[in-house]
Amino acid sequence: MDSWTSPDVPALPFTAEDPRVHDTARGAITPLAPPPGQEAGLYVCGITPYDATHLGHAATYLTFDLVNRALRAAGHPVRFVQNVTDVDEPLLERAERDGVHWEELASREIQLFRDDMVALRIIAPDAYVGAVEGIPSDVAAIQTMLESGRAYRVPAEDAAADAGESPADVYLDLAQVPTFGEVSHWTPAQMLEVYADRGGDPDRAGKRDRLDPLLWRAHREGEPHWEGGSLGAGRPGWHIECTTIARDHLGTPFLVQGGGDDLVFPHHEMSAAQTRALTDGAFAEHYVHQAMVGLDGEKMSKSKGNLVLVSRLRAAGEDPAAIRLALLSQHYRTAWEWTDAHLEAARQRLDRWRHAAQTATTSPSTADAGDGPAGDAVARQLAERLTDDLDTPGALAVVDRWADAVLGEQTGAAAAAERTEARSVRTAVDALLGIDLG
Ligand code: ZN
Repeated sequence: MDSWTSPDVPALPFTAEDPRVHDTARGAITPLAPPPGQEAGLYVCGITPYDATHLGHAATYLTFDLVNRALRAAGHPVRFVQNVTDVDEPLLERAERDGVHWEELASREIQLFRDDMVALRIIAPDAYVGAVEGIPSDVAAIQTMLESGRAYRVPAEDAAADAGESPADVYLDLAQVPTFGEVSHWTPAQMLEVYADRGGDPDRAGKRDRLDPLLWRAHREGEPHWEGGSLGAGRPGWHIECTTIARDHLGTPFLVQGGGDDLVFPHHEMSAAQTRALTDGAFAEHYVHQAMVGLDGEKMSKSKGNLVLVSRLRAAGEDPAAIRLALLSQHYRTAWEWTDAHLEAARQRLDRWRHAAQTATTSPSTADAGDGPAGDAVARQLAERLTDDLDTPGALAVVDRWADAVLGEQTGAAAAAERTEARSVRTAVDALLGIDLG
């Protein structure tokens, strides 16, 4: 599937420290440290394309864009992969409701998502892969799990004629994956509490364990389906797509699995369990999650219908850099509520930064500061904040102080030191925060 066009990411004049981030599975802040010279594999779960990018999505993709930028700043080449869940229940239901073919709905929403990502200056994936593209790999993986006895069939009496002679859905046998729970560390009771709401089918008769995830759904009349070899016609379950796309495009284990924190369970837990069942190895070395963004006291979500869409803000003439800056003003691990005040504050900050960049460039008192150590100080502080668990509020404060100094609101030696040559600051703000100061 076509990716989108990446923004230019300027090189920093120094190498930053390896970023440290909070790893959900370890329950601790840990350094992301790929072996020198080796690619850092970054996999971020993509959208189900039935509604355009809302600010909760944007916050997630921005957070992992920062991880990407921080790894690059630390001198690591990054290979970034993202999927699109371009066939799944919610997409099919929405298409049915709206009287539009699901493929048409998906391709329209995927294009809108790409446009939003370009506007927000999110670095594009090296491989942007649709779930449908991965189906042959899914089929092979499920066949392997059946052969090893780690997956099992549950008869599907209501299946269509082309689903095989004894049609069946296929499930992973979690009892054979002793590491199950390694990502969330939840108890089975905690898992069951949310499983049905998050796409699981705990009450499907014939399952060995209520939590066992669906790997393959036999074809039912009226549902999209693909040739599944010995599985019969059907379609894959949700989690298997990421298991195989990550394995095919990054290899496992890769460095970072990322997504919104509603993916901790079941999605990332199941992706990890399926990888163990397939390879006996780990899925990812680190699991990193973005907290939810709320609106009017509730999580922003399609099912609740309380969405602020990036495309709608853009259509109303909002500068995407201000949207990006509004999201950057909040730390990724703290749930927060979007209000218009965030956007207003971001507009003012952006104006101020751009004004400072302009002033510092033209002011005779700062023109001779050069690119020496003083010129790099702000850039280095910025990198320090970003690599310290993506401390974006702290990073914005560093640039705010620089802008204050340039615009003459601070006096004395400290201000003079911060009134640095604008080029270094501009480069760092662009490379690390993805904000172009013009
Ligand atoms: Zn995923």
